[in-house]
Amino acid sequence: MSKKRALVCGAGGFIGGHLVRRLKSEGYWVRGVDLKYPEFSPTQADDFIQADLRNATVAEVVVKGGIEEVYQLAADMGGAGYIFTGDHDAVVMHNSATINLNMLEASRLAGVKKIFYSSSACIYPEYNQMDPDNPNCEESSAYPAGPDSEYGWEKLFSERLYLSYMRNYGMEVHIARFHNIFGPEGTWTGGKEKSPAAFCRKVAETPVGGEIEMWGDGKQTRSFLYIDDCLEGVRRLMESNFEGPVNIGSEEMVSINRLAEMVMEIAAKEVTIKHIPGPLGVRGRRSDNNLIGVRLGWKPSELLYKGLCKTYPWIKEQVELLSK
Ligand code: NAD
Repeated sequence: MSKKRALVCGAGGFIGGHLVRRLKSEGYWVRGVDLKYPEFSPTQADDFIQADLRNATVAEVVVKGGIEEVYQLAADMGGAGYIFTGDHDAVVMHNSATINLNMLEASRLAGVKKIFYSSSACIYPEYNQMDPDNPNCEESSAYPAGPDSEYGWEKLFSERLYLSYMRNYGMEVHIARFHNIFGPEGTWTGGKEKSPAAFCRKVAETPVGGEIEMWGDGKQTRSFLYIDDCLEGVRRLMESNFEGPVNIGSEEMVSINRLAEMVMEIAAKEVTIKHIPGPLGVRGRRSDNNLIGVRLGWKPSELLYKGLCKTYPWIKEQVELLSK
């Protein structure tokens, strides 16, 4: 039997790189495409094309050759330091929307039947996430829309774009809203890293008794999902008859202060936290997993602490490698 052929857009990035590995372990033939090769380990893709998906001709080329499934993860993306400052709004919206417009049209023309799109928890309205103890991220709460970033607005637009292609052209579409995915081989420095990686790096870099900085009072809350659970959710969604959008995230909500404490516990290192002003995003956010439980009969289960135990040593190693 010939192997199923999949295309992973954003295969040089964090989730895309892991997804390529996961698809290979399931016996797929995989093509990856990205502006860059994966930074931390060689790609496992059978074919890797280094190219820019903002170019429509590139999108047409990469879906050729009998690609049956497309996983569209390529986006201009980063943590709060990139998304919430406002400085990158135009490029984020332009780059990501162009990639999605190109990939959908190219997939349609090539007759791709199944396409996965990675949306984000950032689409949820700010007005439902003001209370750190009681945010509402139920899928149906997305409208009336009110994301707190242009990144979120672009994701919402693209969700609608994918659903339109499903309705008008009969394409099989699956949309997930990821909530803070973390793990080894994720961006850990340079300004685009997210909070779990940032705290792992800061704790690893700082001597015992030293000081690390945290944006805000640390009482803002979030939930974080380990990469393996994310991939399990993506694959289950793709094998289901559910188009979504559905949350793929953790229901374990912690304050950012608690997140930093967990990292210190794992590192067996006490440092003090200095709270400074910075870009924050919403006050509280956590995945609501009712819908995924009902529609897929499964929900993510790995504890944050366990995922951090696998992530911290990897970031510590990167810090040590860099300082050599
Ligand atoms: P990432 O930045 O590591 O990966 C995205 C990849 O897309 C990068 O390797 C980048 O080079 C590539 N890319 C950007 N522009 C491109 C272009 N013009 N042509 C080709 N490739 C291009 O991010 P990630 O954490 O792996 O996220 C993957 C997807 O999941 C993104 O769409 C992101 O918005 C979404 N998402 C991630 C999270 C998370 O917590 N990591 C949360 C919500 C949504």
